[in-house]
Amino acid sequence: MRIAIDTHTHSVASGHAYSTVYELALGARRRRLSGFVLTDHGPALEGGTQVYHFGNLRVLPQRIRGVRLYRGVEANILGLEGGLDLGEEYLEALNFVYAGLHELCFPSGDSERNTRALVAALRNPLVDAISHPGNPRYPVDIRSVVAAARENGKAIEINDSSFRIRKGSHENCAEFARLCAETGTLVVCGSDAHYWSDVGRFGEASSLIRETRLPRELVINASTSSFEAFLARRAGEKRNRPRK
Ligand SMILES: [Zn+2]
Ligand SMILES: [Zn+2]
Repeated sequence: MRIAIDTHTHSVASGHAYSTVYELALGARRRRLSGFVLTDHGPALEGGTQVYHFGNLRVLPQRIRGVRLYRGVEANILGLEGGLDLGEEYLEALNFVYAGLHELCFPSGDSERNTRALVAALRNPLVDAISHPGNPRYPVDIRSVVAAARENGKAIEINDSSFRIRKGSHENCAEFARLCAETGTLVVCGSDAHYWSDVGRFGEASSLIRETRLPRELVINASTSSFEAFLARRAGEKRNRPRK
């Protein structure tokens, strides 16, 4: 399946990624993507992105070498209530917000605990998608996570890097994809590139989508227009969210 926009990329700001924003744009251009989302890790991941990185993203241009740049984050889920490591004032200014579980920020527990954290994050009105929920280090009740994504109009990520670096992801990701197809839940494909030449690398994720017969209409970044429509709907929901 053709993917138009890579929603998951890391720059040198993440501390353990190796390319600049400009190089990521060149990577997207080389794979003929229309755009990419810069999703550096949230600040709780040690040695990584500073909070002020997110406050200063407005200095970046909308397009680099003809490729659309969207502003985002891969925020860390910090607890069972789905709290994130970036304040609302930063999150609401971003185009696309992933929330995910990472070892340095959320010690893996049993499936009940991990599931509770992901479901809570999906209910957070400022979160758009869950990153690599198929990670076998964080066993979850896949049915409950998919149900929470569907109820909240959020997307489940099929992460292309997982098939290489999070061993054992394939089966979980296939189960996520099958359940998303069955229940009409949105999916997003991310490369999780930490180096420019991996931007737009979707070989494994595309095969999985094919194998599991996930309909193209459910993949929010299959086309520029579907991604823009998703962002527009979510921006409205974020604006009108109930305030504390
Ligand atoms: Zn990373
Ligand atoms: Zn991640």
